Amino acid sequence: MSTSQSTPRGLRPHIVLVGKCNAGKSLLLNAISGHDIAIVSPTAGTTTDPVSRASELVPFGPVVYVDTAGIDDDGALGAARTKKTRRAVAGADILLYVTKPDTWSDDDDAELGRLRESKKPVLVVETHADVPASDESSFSVTDPPENRFRVSSVSGIGIDELKLTLIEKLSGARETQKTLLDDLVRPFRVIMMIVPIDLEAPAGRLIMPQVQTIREALDGDAMTVVVKEREVSWALEQLTRPPDLVITDSQVVLKAAGAIPDSVPLTTFSILFSRFKGDLDLFVKNARMIDSLRHGSRVLITETCSHHAHCDDIARVKIPRWLRQYTGKDLAIDVVGGPFPEQIDQYELVIHCGACTITRSQMHARLGEARSIEAPITNYGVAISHIHGVLERVLEPFVNAERQLDL
Ligand code: SF4
Repeated sequence: MSTSQSTPRGLRPHIVLVGKCNAGKSLLLNAISGHDIAIVSPTAGTTTDPVSRASELVPFGPVVYVDTAGIDDDGALGAARTKKTRRAVAGADILLYVTKPDTWSDDDDAELGRLRESKKPVLVVETHADVPASDESSFSVTDPPENRFRVSSVSGIGIDELKLTLIEKLSGARETQKTLLDDLVRPFRVIMMIVPIDLEAPAGRLIMPQVQTIREALDGDAMTVVVKEREVSWALEQLTRPPDLVITDSQVVLKAAGAIPDSVPLTTFSILFSRFKGDLDLFVKNARMIDSLRHGSRVLITETCSHHAHCDDIARVKIPRWLRQYTGKDLAIDVVGGPFPEQIDQYELVIHCGACTITRSQMHARLGEARSIEAPITNYGVAISHIHGVLERVLEPFVNAERQLDL
């Protein structure tokens, strides 16, 4: 597997193509990516649900292209398709609004306005540059020229220019992007990671959040010590000085908090991810709602990926058990994996996984959906730490990091 193919989707910026039916989105996607990713047909409405494909935008690196159904799709399933397109837009890192010569209308102005409200970069791309247009007015007059492109997906006119702009915008965003260990890792620091190898651990490998954290620690020139929970005390004795930070799997956070001296900063992988991908302050505020759950309260546990559930599965077994033990209430708990469920307003609390397989933009799109219907949402690591009474402790590293930045 090549380096680019092995990059997880959650670390690839998503480039989403939007436009009316038959604007040439699929053909454009194939022209930019250099592959036949999307099905191309002169028949309007060939793309139904969003089609996403991991690819490489050279020399920027790994990306995901997402082709969407036409926004004017008025077929029987049009409304459902448009909803899926809206979700793809909400999770985008950059948007291409694709249009054909001589077709621009008030609808395009309205759609472009909606896309701009998302505060994401939007490039307007007119296809069929090899076919003479009757006038120059296809573009919205308010677009700055650097955000407008005329391309031909057939002859390649304008494609390189468009790709250069994509690379420039994505590179700029990458430079300002926070990282998982942002402000926590420095050269020559020692970071201990506690990784249980239990029935849930996949054979022969570590899970993505652990791998990603180790990689960031190495990128930051820190020393990484990885141990199972049983070896923590022994590992501490081997070190000539206490670690600068300990990161534990949430499932053994109570054990870790007992074994690690109070003077050593401690947090969890899941909390790192909730800060990196989600909204840590919001999750902390909502985790306290666990205390007000009553008999019959409905709780949704949602995972981004659907994987084979184990007999001691965190979502299906452990969190429900801890929640019921902590609250002493008979809770109605549902567990859903995969796409974000539609009817989350029926729940008094939504507990989301670390979201390692989706991007920050996609996680924020989920948070936006929850916010729009005032559904309280928190995250595994925050909820588990709250239940175990160690939430304040595992949040301390971030408070301290902020204090240090203020100095
Ligand atoms: S359930 Fe969530 S945190 Fe766990 S591996 Fe899947 S996406 Fe990552």
